[in-house]
Amino acid sequence: MEYYSRQISKLIEELSALPGIGSKSAQRLAFHILNMPMDHVEQLSGAILNARKNVRYCKQCFTLTDDELCPICKNPSRNQKIIMVVEDTRDLAAYEKTQKYEGVYHVLHGAISPMLGIGPNDIKLKELMKRLQGDVDEVIIATNSSLEGETTAMYISKLIKPTGIKVTRIASGVPVGGDLEYIDEMTLLRALEGRVEL
Ligand code: ZN
Repeated sequence: MEYYSRQISKLIEELSALPGIGSKSAQRLAFHILNMPMDHVEQLSGAILNARKNVRYCKQCFTLTDDELCPICKNPSRNQKIIMVVEDTRDLAAYEKTQKYEGVYHVLHGAISPMLGIGPNDIKLKELMKRLQGDVDEVIIATNSSLEGETTAMYISKLIKPTGIKVTRIASGVPVGGDLEYIDEMTLLRALEGRVEL
């Protein structure tokens, strides 16, 4: 990239370090940004900076939010006694898009993977168990159908069973290894409605 001046190259380099952005896209984005009105560029960089600085975990469900409690946990019409366990915030967003789920969530931020050396203590599992000391009717395990997701689901259900709280797993039909965020809303809804007790 020597044919670009140093600051342009730097911008392209930073953009191409983002996931899913190849060097061609990075160049296209860089030149797009350079042609944008200055106030728009300031809005963009400000949004990135503010989000990164202020976004943190919801103290109840551990999704990413910019407040102490996320909008879902704060919403009085959500059923706090039903907790859906998902791997990350994007999975939560996928279920929210169905607009049919009325419970709340718990975001693990990962899944157990012996292969990658990720154990139960590396995800927000202790935090889930602590929540279950409150008044909870059902825990819906909606981890991915990958090996890691299934391992995590089994582990969690074994942990919860002795508490007497109902534990369900979303129905299969969600493609194996498929990220929940890429699955259409109807499929997710069917998976949710067809959940089975573990
Ligand atoms: Zn929350």
